[in-house]
Amino acid sequence: MTPRRKTRRMHIGGVPLGGDAPVVIQSMTSTYTYDVDATVAQIRALAGLGCDVVRVATPEKRDTQALPAILEQSPVPIVADVHFHFQRALEAVTAGVHKIRLNPGNISDRQQVDTVIRACRERGIGIRVGVNEGSIVERRDKDLRAVELNAMATDRRAHMIRLMVEKLEQYLAIFEDNDFHDVVISAKSIDPTICIDAYRAISERFDYPLHLGVTHAGPPETGRIRSITALATLLAEGIGDTIRISYAADPVYEVEDAKELLCVLGLRNRQEPELIACPTCGRIEIDLITLVAAVRRKLADIKTPVKVAVMGCVVNGPGEAEGADVAVFAGKGKGIIYVQGEQTRTVSEDDMLDALYEEAVAFAERVERGEATLGSAPVNIVPPEPLPRSDGSLPLTVLPGA
Ligand code: SF4
Repeated sequence: MTPRRKTRRMHIGGVPLGGDAPVVIQSMTSTYTYDVDATVAQIRALAGLGCDVVRVATPEKRDTQALPAILEQSPVPIVADVHFHFQRALEAVTAGVHKIRLNPGNISDRQQVDTVIRACRERGIGIRVGVNEGSIVERRDKDLRAVELNAMATDRRAHMIRLMVEKLEQYLAIFEDNDFHDVVISAKSIDPTICIDAYRAISERFDYPLHLGVTHAGPPETGRIRSITALATLLAEGIGDTIRISYAADPVYEVEDAKELLCVLGLRNRQEPELIACPTCGRIEIDLITLVAAVRRKLADIKTPVKVAVMGCVVNGPGEAEGADVAVFAGKGKGIIYVQGEQTRTVSEDDMLDALYEEAVAFAERVERGEATLGSAPVNIVPPEPLPRSDGSLPLTVLPGA
């Protein structure tokens, strides 16, 4: 991991962004913003999962009119997403949002941008300038559009990145002229390799905090790969101050994946249990896939980052579960449970879920009482004896004494 690149510090409401602040998780509601109850419910769900900041779309006046009621009930800062109508930006600022997002591709009139900057300065809030592959090519000026599309035809990737950087430079010059520096920038593409190179380029040119994201990435099943490829690469290079993973799905998946990404990169401390599970193979003798899904759901109500391992057998299980606080090693219809290296019980397959959960809860409570420390006990799990089959024979894949 490359040390985080130092950027300017700003705030979104009470959330620090940039400088040495932790990477901020953002998401966006998929509700109609004018539907206050639905929007607030989704904001609360996202915040409950660990989302630090939530963005809402404000295409119409009835959306900005709903903002005061939303802001009053929101547990996290709110960003207004503005396209085409600079008046929506002014209305959102007046309503009290904590940041706005402008797209240079559709609000480019100098006087309008100056007016929005002045309004944000008066309220002490920041602006994200977000260029996006979908709106980067000039639309109004037909001659310029032809030039840009023509250049794109020869080497689309290189010209897309060049265009993103150029448009950011032109737009940010307006902010510099206004001596306004509470700015976050983003350059999103559907292509993670374009995102990686575009963000690398803008991180060299500007010291504003960077908002990372892959745009219109698709459903989680495919969008996850696109998003994590770009975001993990950049974050590992020390680039990025806030992330938004975007899926064509319930935005809770965005927050879950963003949180997991930051945890595995060591950029955020885990607050909830971590689950390790083997992928299963021809040695498996229980329905481990179903068990793992059930364990994941059940662990969700534990608020201590206990590391739990669910392993399909004793062949590789003990080695792969090293570091787990609580682990189960399954065999033919049975499982042996360990807590920090101590064997605590052997249970039937039917009881495995409840028993593992009980051990995880009991261990978490010991941690909370200061009687145990997460991951601290030297985990020295001795491979248990192979569990015999119901007829008393040993599994063929496990050598006696292995
Ligand atoms: S732990 Fe056992 S069952 Fe699971 S993948 Fe490894 S060898 Fe296969």
